[in-house]
Amino acid sequence: MASITLNHIVKKYGDGFPAVNDVSLDIADGEFVILVGPSGCGKSTLLRMIVGLEDITSGDLEIGGKRVNDLAPRNRDLAMVFQNYALYPHLTVYENIAFPLRLTKGQYTDTEIDNRVRNASALLELDEHLDRKPANLSGGQRQRVAMGRAIVRQAQAFLFDEPLSNLDAKLRGQMRTEIARLQRRLATTTVYVTHDQTEAMTLGDRVAVLRRGVLQQVASPRALYDQPVNLFVAGFIGSPPMNFLPGRVDGTDLVLPFVRVPLDDRLRAAIGDRELVIVGIRPDAFEDADVVAQDKRGSGVTFDADVDVTEWLGSELYAYVPFETDAAVQQQLEELDRELDGEGMRTQLVVALDSLSTIRDGDSA
Ligand code: ATP
Repeated sequence: MASITLNHIVKKYGDGFPAVNDVSLDIADGEFVILVGPSGCGKSTLLRMIVGLEDITSGDLEIGGKRVNDLAPRNRDLAMVFQNYALYPHLTVYENIAFPLRLTKGQYTDTEIDNRVRNASALLELDEHLDRKPANLSGGQRQRVAMGRAIVRQAQAFLFDEPLSNLDAKLRGQMRTEIARLQRRLATTTVYVTHDQTEAMTLGDRVAVLRRGVLQQVASPRALYDQPVNLFVAGFIGSPPMNFLPGRVDGTDLVLPFVRVPLDDRLRAAIGDRELVIVGIRPDAFEDADVVAQDKRGSGVTFDADVDVTEWLGSELYAYVPFETDAAVQQQLEELDRELDGEGMRTQLVVALDSLSTIRDGDSA
């Protein structure tokens, strides 16, 4: 096992905008780090540079404290699991898993190979399928064979490139848990690329958020959710996404499009001497006022809302609440939209509730 250090890594294809732009990141020995970001943000390019499938334009890459920029992929001792599994269709499960060991031509005896294949397949519950060909396996089993191939090598680190994206939602959930369990058990340094929120938030010790090749924030899932460093991270992490609203300070209140909020110390500290601000409110920060009143708990700011659409998900309910926008608010929303590449402008709130007890005449709460 080994640490992986990226020092001011840049990747340029031709003369274009850098696909990876000055990324520095320390991944500790045994750590599980997720690279996440929208399509084209450079996460696969970064992973491919670590594994050696892509040249590094500038910067230093160290594995286990040694600079490896110029080391061939096979000499980096890393195991990569791809999205399409890259299994050999004509080989059995056993031979697919054994393949990386046979490639080393004589480094392992047949007995050693057999031991390793059997240990890996027991760990992955593939023992009963060792004689099958990939065509006769389910998607999840194929995924496990691909992981088996990474495990037998006992490489210094595992690199995953969207390994679950070809699986259906249920299987993805199961495999996600299996990967988490496996990584904890083997404690192998792991870098995992995904654009899936849930994978990013549940799998890793730390999550690195990329946008247009630039690292935005590296933090634990909880810290990303609670203390995003900028609008992009705030809007990208969390599903349904955070609501962004224009706010204006008016005396002792903050005026939002649908309600006035008295300024407390925390809000004052965050706002400083600004007059116009963007306010981010997570959907789960809202509660049904009737439920709060019945429970006789807490105090907050109450407002009347016309609920446009509701979506019930079993454990919670999403309510969509349109709000009026005057010209000034509209302008601020449009600016926000530009800043967030079209992700920001919303003229309705998304509110996540345990229940909506007071839908009156089907449209108001
Ligand atoms: P996705 O989630 O869609 O796979 P990604 O975040 O993994 O996206 P990359 O595949 O790393 O993104 O691509 C980053 C940028 O580099 C993109 O703008 C892409 O078009 C560009 N790019 C990737 N490979 C090449 C290449 N071989 N030649 C030129 N440009 C490339």
